[in-house]
Amino acid sequence: MRYPVRMDDTIFDKILKREIPAEIVYEDEETLAFLDIAPNNPGHTLVIPKAPSRNIFDISESSWLAVMKTVRLLAPVIREAVGAEGINIAMNNERAADQEVFHTHVHIIPRYHGDGVLSFTKKKYAEGEMATVANKIRTMVGS
Ligand code: 5GP
Repeated sequence: MRYPVRMDDTIFDKILKREIPAEIVYEDEETLAFLDIAPNNPGHTLVIPKAPSRNIFDISESSWLAVMKTVRLLAPVIREAVGAEGINIAMNNERAADQEVFHTHVHIIPRYHGDGVLSFTKKKYAEGEMATVANKIRTMVGS
């Protein structure tokens, strides 16, 4: 399946270029992190690569590793800063998965017991479906 190329000049590109304001909490050569304007909980942070990419499907390995490094650095800091009891690391890729801004970003979301934020839908596999899906993935990834 082919995905459309990323749109230039997303809202996050504008934040990167300092054309619109954001509460930037961290920056290094390859990444920028700022507070989400509509948080699931206070401290909800977005980490973006500076190099352009749309999402997980076109980001380079080095750019992705830089984002992951920043996520790992910030998660414990954010947890302590807002007194969170847990953290979700989340990423939406393509519209079907709720992506709204087409510049790669990873969400760091502070969580509390019973806060009602995000919950996974636990579906059931049909008979034999789980093995079929696993076999297909194993074959395609070459393991
Ligand atoms: P997505 O659904 O694409 O994974 O998430 C995009 C996120 O960007 C949303 O959680 C939304 O609240 C956040 N967002 C959208 N526009 C802005 C903005 O102008 N500034 C900031 N700081 N966050 C934004």
